[in-house]
Amino acid sequence: MAVKITEECIACNACEAECPNTAIYSAGENWHLGGETHDPISDEYTYVVPGKCTECVGYYDEPQCIAACPTEAIIMDPDHVESKEDLMAKKEFLDKLGR
Ligand code: SF4
Repeated sequence: MAVKITEECIACNACEAECPNTAIYSAGENWHLGGETHDPISDEYTYVVPGKCTECVGYYDEPQCIAACPTEAIIMDPDHVESKEDLMAKKEFLDKLGR
């Protein structure tokens, strides 16, 4: 399951620096994967790219961004449920492709 950022976000971007997958981007910022650039997912809030979030699996025991957020704006995303095996496969895919 990826995480997502809610409207409680104050755009401090404390989470962005903690993400080992560079899955978190500022509002309006283009996101990147494997050398390709993509349009922003949100122009209003700091956002998470679900395809790049592994819940920190492969790096840490818990999502680092959730712990870093001062307003508890980051929650598990019920629209992106994945098993630990899927998340590890995603991490390995990102390792090969480049974040
Ligand atoms: Fe990045 Fe981990 Fe947060 Fe996912 S849970 S966005 S991988 S810091």
